[in-house]
Amino acid sequence: MIIGCLALNASFEPLTMVPMRRALRLVIDGKAEIVEAEMDRVVRSERLTMPRPAVIRLTKFIHVPRRFRRQVTNTFLFARDHYRCQYCGRPAAELKPREALTRDHVIPISRGGKNDWGNVVTACSPCNTRKGNRLPYEIGMHPLTHPVEPHFVHLSWAVRRLTQTQARYIKTFYGDAILHQLEALEHRVHPHGHRAADSKAHPDEAAAV
Ligand SMILES: [Zn+2]
Repeated sequence: MIIGCLALNASFEPLTMVPMRRALRLVIDGKAEIVEAEMDRVVRSERLTMPRPAVIRLTKFIHVPRRFRRQVTNTFLFARDHYRCQYCGRPAAELKPREALTRDHVIPISRGGKNDWGNVVTACSPCNTRKGNRLPYEIGMHPLTHPVEPHFVHLSWAVRRLTQTQARYIKTFYGDAILHQLEALEHRVHPHGHRAADSKAHPDEAAAV
């Protein structure tokens, strides 16, 4: 299990989940303060011992450029599409040994399509190969769900589980409704209580911090 720390902006807006190592670095460098910690668990570095942070807050407000939030990564793309090929509908668990989930551009790049959330879907490798550089109507392959830019917090939740304490901060900022949505998403992604696929979260979303 990945142990992450929820990073808040100075305004308390939840920004992202960061790996524990990076969270500690920010605290040690004075760039963030610990808002919530797990008192029964400590982390030790060469010079100090501190409770393991669960939520940190940046000491200075940072403006997060939209482009960071919009970046498409396969980790987040597959999570958005619930680890399921958007053409044949097969989930990751039903793929054969040499098959994999891939990123498909609905309108191929070679045909003028862009690499943005509105034009990318999860496709198994055979479907991606079959579609090639054709437009959906040319080959009769249409995504099961219309691709849209997902909510940033959905993605953080989908790839790394939040603790109760961390969830409280999401709720404070975004309200109850989003937590219910997150719980619904969690059920779809982890129907049998285990991770459906790829748990190696890409750390690039931490670049926003
Ligand atoms: Zn497929």
